Amino acid sequence: MTITHDFTGQTVVITGAASGIGAASATAFAAAGASVWVLDVDAGRGEAVAADIVSGGGRARFLRCDVTGDADVEHALGVVLAEDGGIDVAYCNAGIGWIKPVSTTEPDEWRRVLDIDLTGAFLVARRAFLAMRPRRSGVILFTGSPHGYRTMAETSAYAAAKAGIGGLMRALALEAAPHGIRVNSLLPGAIDTPALRAEAELSGDAEDAVRRWGAVRPLGRIGRAEEVADLALFLASPAASFITGAELLVDGGAMAAQ
Ligand code: NDP
Repeated sequence: MTITHDFTGQTVVITGAASGIGAASATAFAAAGASVWVLDVDAGRGEAVAADIVSGGGRARFLRCDVTGDADVEHALGVVLAEDGGIDVAYCNAGIGWIKPVSTTEPDEWRRVLDIDLTGAFLVARRAFLAMRPRRSGVILFTGSPHGYRTMAETSAYAAAKAGIGGLMRALALEAAPHGIRVNSLLPGAIDTPALRAEAELSGDAEDAVRRWGAVRPLGRIGRAEEVADLALFLASPAASFITGAELLVDGGAMAAQ
């Protein structure tokens, strides 16, 4: 990372922060001085991420939170507000991938993906917005996907959920702007995370799949979770003070090449 940000004294909440992009973002925000709340369904990995940050001199706490549960989200953000008194940055990042055509996707499978990837983001963003509004400041970030625009026949529910994130983000950005709150989405493409590795395994030859996904990108490789975290910190920082309602690609040029 070449840009230095200072989030000292700020409270940052990140969902899906036990792994991949969320964990890298938690680490980066903490390194920039923030008090970071690691929210995830996976307590073992989430506690380990928070412990790593603390052992490196940062400030982080883990809270188990399933973003699909209204009560879970209310409870977790309630704890954050009780402990830190406010939320400066809420990064709605938790999500799962989905590879199955529409024709073979069962209704319950569809609902699960939409529940986690879209409704979960809505629940967290809504609660964070309500907490930020009286303070007239804050930043809300979402992890969308280029699949919200251009996709493949097999992605069905995932593409729909990520397109939905775009609509949610834009509507909330318009609603939040008069209150001094900015709202943006990151659109990562082929980032090296446990989720991407699991998807690569499905092809039979994981290394070959990763090589192919890298080769179709003008930059010739897949991305690192830290490179997405860099964008999250930029968007949350005063350097992005005139950016709201935007979707920013971090995809090695893949969308431009399509
Ligand atoms: P990871 O699987 O590495 O991390 C996602 C984390 O979210 C996991 O710890 C996962 O737990 C957790 N999670 C899953 N369901 C819930 C839930 N209901 N409540 C709270 N946490 C949950 O994935 P990535 O870091 O790759 O993905 C992060 C985000 O980035 C997702 O929204 C994904 O769609 C998006 N994205 C990723 C891309 C990539 O190339 N990696 C590209 C485009 C978008 P568990 O492992 O137990 O499921």
